[in-house]
Amino acid sequence: MTKPPEDVRLLGRVVRIRSADLDVDGECTDGTVYYNSEDENPDNVRDTVVHELIHHYETMLGLRFKEQQVRQLAVCVLQMIRDNPKLIAWLQATN
Ligand SMILES: [Zn+2]
Repeated sequence: MTKPPEDVRLLGRVVRIRSADLDVDGECTDGTVYYNSEDENPDNVRDTVVHELIHHYETMLGLRFKEQQVRQLAVCVLQMIRDNPKLIAWLQATN
């Protein structure tokens, strides 16, 4: 499985992404997103990382999402990115 990047930037802050021995799919603590090191399904890990990054935004912005809302947002964001590489390239362009 391709590992996620070790660091990402959210709202100008560096957020670490690490695997860990967890009893759950993922966790989001101060400055770090963790995914379960036992999970070998790349689609699950991607969903978990996006899910935990949304929790990170939630904390940074002082929002209060219900867990179901975070799950649904993660599925939508991940699928939008995966289904639309041309959109992602256009969003990343600077001209
Ligand atoms: Zn959650």
